[in-house]
Amino acid sequence: MIKITLPDGSVKEFENNSTPMDVARSISEGLARNVISASFNGQKVETTTPLTTDGDLILYTWNDDQGKQAFWHSSSHIMAQALEELYPGVKLTIGPSIENGFYYDIDLGDRVLSDKDFPAIEAKMMEIARGKHEFKMRSASKAEALEFYKKQNNPFKVELIENLEDGTITFCDHDTFTDLCRGGHIPNTGIVKAIKLLSVAGAYWRGDENKPQLTRIYGISFPKQKELKEYLELLEEAKKRDHRKLGKELELFTFSSKVGQGLPLWLPKGAALRARLEEFLKKAQQKAGYEQVVTPHIGQKELYVTSGHYAKYGEDSFQPIHTPKQDEEFLLKPMNCPHHCEIYNSKPWSYKDLPKRFAEFGTVYRYEQSGELHGLTRVRGFTQDDAHIFCTPDQLDEEFKKVIDLVLYVFGTLGFENFTAQVSLRDPEKPEKYIGSDENWKKAEQAILNAAKEKNLNYVVETGEAAFYGPKLDFMVKDALGRKWQLGTIQVDYNLPERFELTYKGSDDKLHRPVMIHRAPFGSIERFVAILLEHTAGNFPLWLMPEQAIILSISEKYEKYAEKVLNSLENNEIRALADHRNETIGKKIRDAEVNKVPYMIIVGEQEEKDNTISVRKHGEGDLGTISIEDFTNLINSEINRTLKKFEN
Ligand SMILES: [Zn+2]
Ligand SMILES: [Zn+2]
Repeated sequence: MIKITLPDGSVKEFENNSTPMDVARSISEGLARNVISASFNGQKVETTTPLTTDGDLILYTWNDDQGKQAFWHSSSHIMAQALEELYPGVKLTIGPSIENGFYYDIDLGDRVLSDKDFPAIEAKMMEIARGKHEFKMRSASKAEALEFYKKQNNPFKVELIENLEDGTITFCDHDTFTDLCRGGHIPNTGIVKAIKLLSVAGAYWRGDENKPQLTRIYGISFPKQKELKEYLELLEEAKKRDHRKLGKELELFTFSSKVGQGLPLWLPKGAALRARLEEFLKKAQQKAGYEQVVTPHIGQKELYVTSGHYAKYGEDSFQPIHTPKQDEEFLLKPMNCPHHCEIYNSKPWSYKDLPKRFAEFGTVYRYEQSGELHGLTRVRGFTQDDAHIFCTPDQLDEEFKKVIDLVLYVFGTLGFENFTAQVSLRDPEKPEKYIGSDENWKKAEQAILNAAKEKNLNYVVETGEAAFYGPKLDFMVKDALGRKWQLGTIQVDYNLPERFELTYKGSDDKLHRPVMIHRAPFGSIERFVAILLEHTAGNFPLWLMPEQAIILSISEKYEKYAEKVLNSLENNEIRALADHRNETIGKKIRDAEVNKVPYMIIVGEQEEKDNTISVRKHGEGDLGTISIEDFTNLINSEINRTLKKFEN
C-alpha cells in the first residue's frame, strides 16, 4: 500500500501502482471525469502513471493552469499527427503549450503553409480527437530513440536526443503517432472538442538565426465548442483594442523609421495625456513625502561599473558614447537608481533625516532586439515613474506599507480593480546566492509579508524568486479582457547602498547603511498607457481624456453661440473643442463617437434662444437639454467621483 496526501491535507491509502485517475475515482466519479492532469511530489505526471511511493498528489482539471497546459500540449501532438498525415515527410521539432494555446515548430521542406490550409488541418485534428486515442508514455533507450528519428531523416529530434541522458528518454504514443516527449498529457484525445489554428510564422531552430528556418503553427483548443467561441470573440475585441491601433486613431503617439525603431514619438494629445498622468502621480507623491529630482539621460561608464549594471547589461546594451577629445565614455541611462544614489551621497544624513524619497519621471534607454519591439509595451526608450526610498532597516515596515497604499491608489483611480500580488522571497537553502546580512533579509521579508497581510492583499508567496539583492512584491492586474499584466513592482535593495557606500549617522553616532526601495506604480508611462488603452478601449476616466466635450453646431448659423459655449467651458477648465465642419449633425455625432469624446454638446436654434445646450453621452445617448452651469457641475462631479485625493 502507498499513502497519498491530497492538497487539503487528507491522507488516503491506495494499492501500490494506483494511478492519479484511480485516486480521482475514489473521491468521486465527477472528479474522475474532469481530471486531465496531475502532479506527484511536485513533478508533472500522467493521470495514468502508476504511483509506487508515498507522496503528495494534486489533481488538475481544465480550470487549473496546469490542466490547460496538459490540454494544449496534448493538442500539439494531435496537430503534429494531422500534419504528418496531410503532408508526409515533414520533420517535427518541438511543440509546447503556451499561455494561450500551443504551437509546433516544423520543417515543412519546400512547402509554404498559409491560413488557407488551416481548415483541412483542423478537420484532420478533430477526426483524430474524436477517435478518443489514449496518450501513453513509454521509455526508450537512447539507441532506440536515435534509430527512430534517423529512419525518419529528422536531424532536429536526433540533436535533441543526443543531448539527453540514456535512461531518461521517453516517447508518447497515441493512435498511430509517436513523439519524443517528457510527458504531461490529458488522458485521451477525445477530451479535445474544439480546435482553432490561429497563425503561422517563421521561427529559427533553437531561436538561432544561423540555424534552419522552421514553420511555427499556433493553435488553441478547448473542451467545449462554446469556450472556443468565447475565446475568438475575446480575440476580436482585443484586436479592436490594440493600443497600436487606438493610439493612431486617437492621435496619441506615432513611430518613425527615421527616428528609429522602438522610440515612440508622443503627439500633442498623447503628450498632454502623459502630462496629466504625471501630474496625478506627482500630487499623490508630494502628499506621501516624496521629493522630485532631475537627472541627465547619460552617465559615465564608471557609474554603471560601480552600480554593477555594466557587468550585467553592458555587452548586450547600447554601447558607450565617446567624447571627441579625451575619449571619455558615457552610457545612455538604463536605470535611474545609480544617479539617485549619487544624489543621496551629495550630503551626510542623520537617522533623523530618513526616510528620503527621491522621485523622478526618468527616461531610460535599453536595447531590445528589433524582433522583440512591440508598440509601446516593448520600446528602446521609455520614462519610468521612478522613485527610490532610502530608509533605516527599522523604517522598512512602515515605508513598504506606504508604497502599497500609493500603488493601490493608482490602481483604484485608473480602474484596475482586479489584481493579485506576489511576494518573492529568497531560497533559504541557498544563502550564498544573496547579498546582505541574514538579519536584514529576515527583517525585509517580514516587512513585506506584514504589509501584504495588513493591506489585505490577495497574494501568493514564491520562495526562491527574490532578486539576489533583496525581496520584492509584484502586482498582477487583470484587464477588462481578463489578460494579466505585471504592474507596480516594489523592490528592496541591499546591494546599491553597499556599492555606492551610502551611509547615515545612527543614534549611536556611528555610520550605518540605509536600505533602498525601488518602486514604480506605472512601471513606465509608455507601457502603462498601452495597458490603459487596451483596458479602457480608449474610454479613459473623464479627468484623463484628451477632450472631455465636443460642441456640434447644427449649422453655421449657430457657430457663434457654439463659440460662446466653448469659451465658457474653457473658463471652467473643461477641455472642449467645437466641430464647425459643414457636415450633418448625424455625421458629426458619429465622428465624435468614433473619437470616444465623452460628451457631445449639440447647439441649434432652440438652445441659442434658451441659452442652454443639448447633451449626449458617449455610448449612452441623449441626456436632455440643460444649462451650461449644470453641465459644468455634471463634469466636475464625475471627475471628483473618479479622481479622489490621495490620503496619506
Ligand atoms: Zn507530449
Ligand atoms: Zn531603481
